[in-house]
Amino acid sequence: MLAALAQSRKALPECLPNPPVGCVIIDAQEIVAQGYTQAPGKHHAEADALNQIQAKAFSFLKMYVTLEPCFFHGRTPACALAIAGVAILPSIILTVNVTNITTFSQ
Ligand SMILES: [Zn+2]
Repeated sequence: MLAALAQSRKALPECLPNPPVGCVIIDAQEIVAQGYTQAPGKHHAEADALNQIQAKAFSFLKMYVTLEPCFFHGRTPACALAIAGVAILPSIILTVNVTNITTFSQ
């Protein structure tokens, strides 16, 4: 989770007004992808990391993300659906987003 927090710090200030989110994907205790929230309209942290593991084979992926993945489609697709699509379970979430609606610019 500390690595995910470090990624989230890279998001500022370009991500604003979206929240600075960091994401790390591990496979067998090794970081295989990491990402952070890009400028509005570009990748969220989860999508940034997921792009790095496309077309690669892993045995057991686990995701650490600093904020609950969005589940709505705004300017970008919902991260929750993208995560489910690659069957990464379980995801470790640092903070639950109680405003997981369109209060942030996507
Ligand atoms: Zn998202």
